[in-house]
Amino acid sequence: MEKLVDKLEREGMLSRSEFTELLAGRKQAGLAAYLFERARVVRHRIYRRDVYLRGLIEFSSYCRNDCFYCGLRKSNTAAERYRLSADEILECCAQGHALGFRTFVLQSGEDPYFTDERMADIVRAIRAAHPDCAITLSLGERAFESYRILFEAGAERYLLRHETANERHYQGLHPSDLSLRHRLDCLHELQEIGYQVGCGFMVGSPGQDLDCLLDDLFFIKEFKPQMVGIGPFIPHKDTPFAGEKPGEAGLTVFLLAILRLMEPGLLLPATTALGTIDPRGREAGILAGANVLMPNLSPVRVRAKYLLYDNKICTGDEAAECRICLEKRVRGVGYAVAVCRGDCAGFKPVRVPLTGENPSDPKEMEKYYVRPEIPEGRGLYLS
Ligand code: SF4
Repeated sequence: MEKLVDKLEREGMLSRSEFTELLAGRKQAGLAAYLFERARVVRHRIYRRDVYLRGLIEFSSYCRNDCFYCGLRKSNTAAERYRLSADEILECCAQGHALGFRTFVLQSGEDPYFTDERMADIVRAIRAAHPDCAITLSLGERAFESYRILFEAGAERYLLRHETANERHYQGLHPSDLSLRHRLDCLHELQEIGYQVGCGFMVGSPGQDLDCLLDDLFFIKEFKPQMVGIGPFIPHKDTPFAGEKPGEAGLTVFLLAILRLMEPGLLLPATTALGTIDPRGREAGILAGANVLMPNLSPVRVRAKYLLYDNKICTGDEAAECRICLEKRVRGVGYAVAVCRGDCAGFKPVRVPLTGENPSDPKEMEKYYVRPEIPEGRGLYLS
């Protein structure tokens, strides 16, 4: 079975039958340990022992959608809804910057209140206050023009999990007004505009079988995202999936290592969901090749209201406490938190006008912000 791991490392891909064999044999003695070791070797070559932090700001818990697995779905009348103001979002960023965060992830449900104009103003304000930071958006499905406006305002990365690349499975997780086709179109549009794009899926979601996982791996290979977020499915008590079995941490970590060997330059988070299902899940993820952590910078008063799933960890901790806790965890497994933007290896910086306009005169362009060169995994270490 180790031969399959070697082939995956060498060629970056396996056939469907080889992946099936590898996944079916994942509990064989020594196999996971060997896979994780190879994933670490590959990860160290590109990202050394750096772990990148993303400061997550969950700024609106309103959502117009009704995904069956999600605690924020519009039919969940028990969910408490909130929106942060632009000033509150900027305050989160300022606090995060002081703590060493150089990427902010603005995440929300699909909330129509945050129009292109409102979002672009927020992005421009963050860009002006923190020109050394990357701005990531995670706002769900929007129109091409909307993505373009936000990119020109200064956002550079976008996270949009595809959830599953299998049509049948997608339909089983979502109401009929959402489609896999449209989700994939959005991902391709984001890529076309120039965002660093993150997709991702849940492990163990209801209706998922081996075929679905293979579809996810083949989709990722073809799509070539800069980041892939995977976490175990965890049921939420006020959703149609309340009684379903959660996904497994072990399979999630195994898939993280497979992804590292498939696409060595990926940004791979050890997700909060992984830390929720297993108290040492994030450490296990890092030891299997993950290189990103996404602690919460949202004000503590709203944390418990942004519950995609039950028993989410770290909802009561201040940002500074989270930061210290994570640093200890990272050091505990022999890695180091890097204070830098943490872009995907090989990412080429692009110019983005602060005004949202796109002047053709090069002299005019000088007035605008030029994104800094990326240190490609060479972060400054905290003391
Ligand atoms: S998964 Fe996203 S789009 Fe679906 S209900 Fe939850 S917040 Fe809304």
